[in-house]
Amino acid sequence: MVKVRFAPSPTGHLHVGGARTALFNWLFARKNGGKFVLRIEDTDVERSSREMSFEILSALKWLGLEWDEGPVYQSKRLRIYQRMAERLVKEGKAYYCYCTRQEIEDRRKKAEEQGKPWKYDRRCLNLSSEEREKFENEGRPKAIRFIVPEGKTEFEDLVLGKISVDNSEIEDFVLLKSDGYPTYHLSVVVDDHLLKISHIIRGADHIANTPKQILLYKAFGWNPPLFAHLPLILGPDRKKLSKRHGETSLLAFKEKGYLSLAMFNFLAQLSWSPGEDKEFYEVEELVERFSLEKVRHSNPVFDFEKLAWLNARMISLLPVDRIWEELKPFLKREGILEDLEKRQDWSFRMLALVKERARDLAELAATARRYVRRDFEYREEALKKHWKDGAKEGLERLLQEFEKVESFTAEETEKVLRELADRMGIKAAKLIHPLRVALLGERVSPGIFDVLEILGKEETMARIKRALSELP
Ligand code: GLU
Repeated sequence: MVKVRFAPSPTGHLHVGGARTALFNWLFARKNGGKFVLRIEDTDVERSSREMSFEILSALKWLGLEWDEGPVYQSKRLRIYQRMAERLVKEGKAYYCYCTRQEIEDRRKKAEEQGKPWKYDRRCLNLSSEEREKFENEGRPKAIRFIVPEGKTEFEDLVLGKISVDNSEIEDFVLLKSDGYPTYHLSVVVDDHLLKISHIIRGADHIANTPKQILLYKAFGWNPPLFAHLPLILGPDRKKLSKRHGETSLLAFKEKGYLSLAMFNFLAQLSWSPGEDKEFYEVEELVERFSLEKVRHSNPVFDFEKLAWLNARMISLLPVDRIWEELKPFLKREGILEDLEKRQDWSFRMLALVKERARDLAELAATARRYVRRDFEYREEALKKHWKDGAKEGLERLLQEFEKVESFTAEETEKVLRELADRMGIKAAKLIHPLRVALLGERVSPGIFDVLEILGKEETMARIKRALSELP
């Protein structure tokens, strides 16, 4: 039975790299009819916070990555890790270490001065019983260290292939710190085993941790799960993706007005491709096509522009009812949600028109506001370009013509406007551009006759009058 987990540490926002890991786990679980577990690795008390945990949960929900089990909080499982570490001491596979941080640091420095590579020198493994007793009597704090056996550790990574490490490169690492908290290696292995995780899919930054963890599985007498390490995401300059490159927190994209499905599509295709030439996929289509074997070895680049393009494209292609729920908070921020809800039918027609050119949901809502409220500001650039001599005269005549129109449809208004332009001996554009400025205060918009139809006669007249009286 396939069972995977996403195991974030709540020490910061869920960044896009973490989100990609979560998403690949989720896709793999769904594809194989398995389970997806969420585990919060909050044993680093100083750096973890409740708020961050909640934020991570809400970021995952936004992406649609619902978990089947958990969240399991490691901070509530300390006794389990302590018992497991003690068990290894009893079995002679781990030992108490009384060295202080300072002592280790001093010895490390000395080794370095002598040009020797440093790893923990097993001083406490070799303590005599008198020395041990002395430390115990002094009440020295003690950690538990794992005895790294001799030999080689090998595993077959499902993405990266065979990986082999000589154990001599690994020091006797700490399992339990002197304050009773487990290190990551102990808690991760114990929990993955107890939760019966079948596949560990995580970022390649953990690859160096895997041999240590496999040694621990063996020491406990447990079968290690299978491992798949996902290549790290790079920024456009091909250096490790970081804040320097731009926003990397997942929820920041939500705030900016990215569709969750756009983000889902984009993240799913970092290191993997569903293999068809489609602009975007439904979640079910991605689930159906997903396979770990097809994950690429090379590092994917997080292309901010491509993501922005995809988002705009999806906003323009998806029907309004599919973006409505995500758009609502932005409409609310613009103060027009209630109005729009009162006339849903009109709102959906208006949004269908406006969304064609919106880059994100925030921009869509801001533009929609111009259709709902007449008090918008005329954009400077629109005035400069299209509010020229003759603009007012043309609009005055247009106003008179529109007054006579009974059925204010796109076809009708187009006919009227073009006839007027002919009679005036000017190009239709000479009327259309200033009309757009008057109606919306913008330099560009959807087709002007569609805009007229959506606004309706009364509103159109009012807006032209406002422009005539307010603009120079
Ligand atoms: N808490 C670890 C992290 O956030 C999880 C590593 C793992 O998946 O094993 O990087």
